[in-house]
Amino acid sequence: MFELNTIIRPNIKSLKPYSSARDEFKGEASVYLDANENAFGSPLSTNYHRYPDPMAYAVKMRLSEIKGVPARNIFLGNGSDEAIDILFRSFCNPGVDNVIIVPPTYGMYEVSANINDVEIKRINLTEEYQLNLEGIAEAIDKNTKLIFICSPNNPTGNSINREDIETLLANFNGIVVVDEAYINFSRQKTFIQELTEYANLVVLQTLSKAWGLAALRVGMAFASEEIIEVFNRVKPPYNINEASQQLALEALQNVEKINNWIKEILKERDTLVLALKSFDFVIDIYPSDANFILVKTADADGIYKYLTEQGIIVRNRNKIKLCEGCLRITVGTFEENQALINSLKKLKND
Ligand SMILES: *Cc1c(COP(=O)(O)O)cnc(C)c1O
Repeated sequence: MFELNTIIRPNIKSLKPYSSARDEFKGEASVYLDANENAFGSPLSTNYHRYPDPMAYAVKMRLSEIKGVPARNIFLGNGSDEAIDILFRSFCNPGVDNVIIVPPTYGMYEVSANINDVEIKRINLTEEYQLNLEGIAEAIDKNTKLIFICSPNNPTGNSINREDIETLLANFNGIVVVDEAYINFSRQKTFIQELTEYANLVVLQTLSKAWGLAALRVGMAFASEEIIEVFNRVKPPYNINEASQQLALEALQNVEKINNWIKEILKERDTLVLALKSFDFVIDIYPSDANFILVKTADADGIYKYLTEQGIIVRNRNKIKLCEGCLRITVGTFEENQALINSLKKLKND
């Protein structure tokens, strides 16, 4: 049985969080002399002289409408990378606990683990880029706190079988993190509707990819109210700045525009796949549920270097286990994808 209380770090369980001026007085007043701000204003056209809402409540309310999840089940971080770090800081005792990752996968899980001095157990994906459930079950011990599953997976692009993730959720007494940074591009169903079913589920999403707001640094974690409460105590008091809150709120009025862009990106992805297939140095293109494709080539380093000289930057994943020979290519605009294809045509003719 999953019991949240048994996996929270003792120092976090007893933590008395910082209480900001905005925490201690939440109402409306006419004179604010409580936070040592500059009452004269900001040297900008927009006023930023007041501290922002620590809980970014307005943004959460809008996300709640879009996602169909109550605001109390949403945590906002300075990118979902902050949520990843807070997972470690909330649940993993440095030098004692461990987490499971399933490579090839997103690199930040490992970096965050290393920063927090938490052991990593790597259970590689299968050749089909799916979970090795037996391997994961064998690796779990009493100090295993988190399992990170990225679906659709970065850098492979495929979705992880839903039943396998559900098997983990039902049997693991720690937290299963499902990173859905690319879910908007996927035909698969999100896991955020399963929060009522699984108390040990944390779903990560972000405004950085489909929503086109990477520079604002707004990431989301969806989880039980109890887990969100832990995250809110651990996070820096004002982790989402006022400019990001205002701009995110404004951007979130444009659901239709984003949905249209997603459709266009998927169409461009299909066109790109088709064009890439015609090159004889392309060995394989893996099926993608994301806005990028993983392409196995005969000479990843050579093609990477050539494209860089042409001013076209893709991600070289050649050195990563199970991604030997692979380049990860983000789907760009029509013009950008054409530039890539035209450059590769020249390479072919050289
Ligand atoms: C890009 C990415 C993120 C990071 O998102 P931010 O919200 O920008 O921090 C998280 N997970 C995966 C798998 C990603 O590819």
